[in-house]
Amino acid sequence: MRLHVVTFGCQMSVADGEELASPLKGRGFTAVGDADTADAIVLNTCTVRQHAEDKAMSFIGRLREWKDKDPERVLIVAGCAAERLGPWIQKRFPYVDLVVGAKSIEDYPMIVEEALGARFDALAETRQAFRPTTERYREEVPLPNAVGWASPVSAFVTIMRGCNYSCSYCIVPAVRGRELYRPYETVMAEVRAKVALGAKEITLLGQTVNSWNGNEGGRRIRFPELLRRMGKIEGLDRLRFESPHPHFVDDDLIEAMTATKPVCEQLHLPIQSGSDRLLKIMRRNYDSARILDQTARLRSAMPLVEVSTDIIVGFPSETDEDFERTLGLVRSLRPSWSYTFKYSPREGTESAGMADDVPDAVKEERLARLNALCDGLTEEALAARVGKVVEVLDEGGGFGRTRDGFKVSWNGSGPAGRTVKVRITGTSKRILKGESDERA
Ligand code: SAH
Ligand code: SF4
Repeated sequence: MRLHVVTFGCQMSVADGEELASPLKGRGFTAVGDADTADAIVLNTCTVRQHAEDKAMSFIGRLREWKDKDPERVLIVAGCAAERLGPWIQKRFPYVDLVVGAKSIEDYPMIVEEALGARFDALAETRQAFRPTTERYREEVPLPNAVGWASPVSAFVTIMRGCNYSCSYCIVPAVRGRELYRPYETVMAEVRAKVALGAKEITLLGQTVNSWNGNEGGRRIRFPELLRRMGKIEGLDRLRFESPHPHFVDDDLIEAMTATKPVCEQLHLPIQSGSDRLLKIMRRNYDSARILDQTARLRSAMPLVEVSTDIIVGFPSETDEDFERTLGLVRSLRPSWSYTFKYSPREGTESAGMADDVPDAVKEERLARLNALCDGLTEEALAARVGKVVEVLDEGGGFGRTRDGFKVSWNGSGPAGRTVKVRITGTSKRILKGESDERA
């Protein structure tokens, strides 16, 4: 039986997709890369921005034909948009077999089993032994039996779910609920297991990943301490995390990043805006001076660090002056990568109650100006590497990444998992191109 997992959304959603696939894999499904040959599809949706949600809904629409070809096929729609629009999805697309919202991810294996167990048995070529569990998922997380789908040597590990913030534009708290931290022992065990399976690089994931805390033997452990402890795991070469909230980027975190060798020289720091007036209305709990102060401290402690960011343009009431401040902060921050978004009101959020008063043409124009600035900074960062020798983790097929987050393609053909020195000779489509003297 063949399973196709599709995700429209961020890395966190991609990692969730792997988790959503696991009970089906436990029933003997194997992963396939396209819908056509699949017996089951798990569609993992995102509702953070209107655009991602629209893409997921039109994908479900196109699957009618896939389902018509063989009604025994199974279609599961999960994730944030499923949480927000569950009953509507079921009504609008009656051929969807199961809708599971993001808040139910902990119970997902049980829900799938209850709703579809018999269907899967009918589908099965050979009936699989399967023990339904009555225990909650988070208390009995099975250790992984594979590094992950994305890469044989680079794995994601979700350490927290939900969000306790209330940024006025953001729907995440409504669809994903309050923060839930996976216990210390569980995340350590998962990282150790993935490293034992061949992972050299781990990316810890969570909506505000650095608000994670746990305890060991009654002693509280905060995120920086988690990094220090994970850094000692034998065989783990690289450790990354995403998305940290600026509120928790403090000296302790900077010290832990600097002192923990596997922690990569890379920090994603979503600024959203450079206007302190807007940051207040967005309820971000920091101002532009704090962002600059944090990054200055980080850069002096870790000179090779590269910073990336998220920015929204066209938030309600954004003036030309506010927007200029955003451009100004970007010029000072000099992110090597930026993810820029046009504001879209999300139902039920605080800002959805404000007038969406920046005309679309103005949003587009601002987005284009911001992108020109951000793209220029990315190009500069890429160009600065040409002629240099960089350290790349080989992910197979002559593809890999530097510690500071650049993609590299070179003439490599050795086994994945080695760290290779590559001389950068040029760039193409935002990827560094290079050559290595190494003989496989
Ligand atoms: N937890 C992360 C962000 C998660 S959402 C953080 O706090 O940084 C990913 C990005 O989507 C956000 O950083 C923001 O830039 C963008 N985004 C969220 N809601 C949006 C909206 N209503 N309109 C446009 N962009 C939005
Ligand atoms: Fe959304 Fe803000 Fe939470 Fe990030 S911190 S998920 S932007 S509410």
